[in-house]
Amino acid sequence: MKFVDVVRVLESIEATTQRTVMAKLLSSLLKKTPPNVIDKVIYFILGQLRPDWEAVELGVAEKLTFRALSIASGVSVKQVEDLYKRLGDVGETARRVLSGKQQQGGKSILEFLGGGGGGELTMGKVYDTLMSIARASGEGAQDLKTKLLTSLFSQAKPEEAKYIARFVVGRLRLGIADMTILDALADAYKVPREELERAYHVYPDLGYIAKLVAMEGAEALKKIHVTPGVPIQPMLAERLSTPNEILGKLGGVAMVEYKYDGERAQVHKTRDGTIKIFSRRLEDITHAYPDVAQYVSEAIDAREFIVEGEIVAIDPDTGEFKPFQELMHRKRKHDVKEAMKEYPVNIFLFDAIYIDGQDLTELPLLDRRRKLLEVLKPSDYVHLATWRLINDPNELEKFFNEAISDGCEGVMCKSIKADSIYEMGARGWLWIKYKRDYKSELTDTLDLVVVGAFWGRGKRAGTYGALLIAAYDPDTDQFYTVSKVGSGFTDEDLVKLKQMLDPYRIPHRHPRVVSKMEPDVWFVPAVVLEIIGAEITLSPLHTCCMGAIRPDVGLAIRFPRFTGRYRTDKSPEQATTVKEILEMYKSQKKVKIEEAQQP
Ligand code: ATP
Repeated sequence: MKFVDVVRVLESIEATTQRTVMAKLLSSLLKKTPPNVIDKVIYFILGQLRPDWEAVELGVAEKLTFRALSIASGVSVKQVEDLYKRLGDVGETARRVLSGKQQQGGKSILEFLGGGGGGELTMGKVYDTLMSIARASGEGAQDLKTKLLTSLFSQAKPEEAKYIARFVVGRLRLGIADMTILDALADAYKVPREELERAYHVYPDLGYIAKLVAMEGAEALKKIHVTPGVPIQPMLAERLSTPNEILGKLGGVAMVEYKYDGERAQVHKTRDGTIKIFSRRLEDITHAYPDVAQYVSEAIDAREFIVEGEIVAIDPDTGEFKPFQELMHRKRKHDVKEAMKEYPVNIFLFDAIYIDGQDLTELPLLDRRRKLLEVLKPSDYVHLATWRLINDPNELEKFFNEAISDGCEGVMCKSIKADSIYEMGARGWLWIKYKRDYKSELTDTLDLVVVGAFWGRGKRAGTYGALLIAAYDPDTDQFYTVSKVGSGFTDEDLVKLKQMLDPYRIPHRHPRVVSKMEPDVWFVPAVVLEIIGAEITLSPLHTCCMGAIRPDVGLAIRFPRFTGRYRTDKSPEQATTVKEILEMYKSQKKVKIEEAQQP
């Protein structure tokens, strides 16, 4: 497949503001992609070489890219850099530098590099060269990377170079989500969406799934199983605001556990004894927690396993929990040994997903728990999450208060009914979180996606004064605005946010964003922030749940404020959903009515 054919589609996708057009473009691209390169096309579009959890890094910095562009075009590095400073986009820089070369009839540099090739770039060639760049390591790696990238640029048409350059520096950022690809795949290959989704929950590697379907048909999806070493999509919880409602929903009795405020961790041990830890977003975070890997490996007596728990920062002298931010400090430190000493952690296990050849996800919770207890020898570092079986609302409230006074965020109430399976990738009613009650104030936080911004004035000139934020709707795979937030940002935050957001700036509304407001600047939905507000109100200005309560009126957050927590552990598709906001609105209303009825 010619690489330029992929590039043409990417250009059209970038130009559209319509989600339906984007979906059609993607599905027709996948339809005409030969099965043997469909994985490569998909990885490229997603801006990665392999699924995130394999952590394949290109290791190409801007400087190296400029050098390669300079050699390929004959333009000096200084000129390339100056152009980049002016344009702020490495892709556009590459395009212009190489168009200049074409106009001057510049000769190919391939002879100089000793590389053969010639002819048109294919998707396979581009991908394979990028993979060789990623694999280059050790002595001479930088030179080899430069040489390989130069050879790509010398063979590329200017518009091809634009996307290659963006890809290598990690700024492709088309805002195409995994879900969008699944839709396109379902459409292109006429595979039931649920089957694709199941496969994706068990084995989140879209390249692999697409290739399997394209080569062998939908039937082949049945071959996909839970596999140690491959993260599964985590099960998620709904929320409710009173013990009565919670027990009612769970059938009168629940397994209630402390809800720790740390980082979710899926710990895998593969047959060769390797331990891997994956985050809530399925990124490989083993490198940040070698101590946890060691502790869990020692505490669990099984050849192969997948267990889940929460990693919490601990004060080793008192055993008290420290705030979640401590873990972020730990991850920011380069020297892991230092970090481990300075920010010690424990892990609290709460589920078992796979043990010695047995997939446990279809078992009810108490059976999974039994399996976990059979293999777990708790230690000073590895604990079972504190839990209790509860059937009385007063007892639930008491346990909740204990959890809070022990430094937890609240409790997780889990169904123990016969159907209480581990629901991968789903936010269902089998798990219900109980943080604080909603009273008339909105005390739970929301994780929302930045989709636009308004320029600041006065003290905030040069930075963004307010951000347009949105919730996610998995049914339409789009983002709906809920608020314009301007409070809670320190001066430092404003500078940091500008830097974080600028690479995502686009000249028009992203096709996956639904908004009535016109901010000064639009972004590809990518950055997730934690927001707190006074309450959820009806609003004609915002598109979240538009028409759900009243025609032409949506829901908005009143008095929104940034809590200071950047949710880099969440992808935009893991943000608070419109459905959750609707539920929060309804439950808040119910609490208000109850309060008003009290004597
Ligand atoms: P979510 O993960 O539901 O999208 P979130 O990341 O904002 O939302 P919360 O809403 O606070 O987190 O609650 C869910 C998270 O609580 C889990 O993802 C997990 O990291 C954490 N957690 C802590 N203790 C437990 C427990 N005992 N059982 C399950 N999850 C727990």
